[in-house]
Amino acid sequence: MNLDRFEVGRPDPQEAEVLEYCANPNCGGEIYEGQSVVRYGSDLCCDMKCFANAIGAVTIVAGEN
Ligand SMILES: [Zn+2]
Repeated sequence: MNLDRFEVGRPDPQEAEVLEYCANPNCGGEIYEGQSVVRYGSDLCCDMKCFANAIGAVTIVAGEN
């Protein structure tokens, strides 16, 4: 069996089904069945950081522009 096309480090690449892709255009990561994700409307994001990025929220220092 040729496993070369599977990336290293994914949990159970043969079993985890890709359901969706992260709504953060800078990420676009695959979201697997059973993964804990952030839902935003009909979109899914990998985590809160991607969610914030997807809606254009960034961390700044208050008072600085
Ligand atoms: Zn993401």
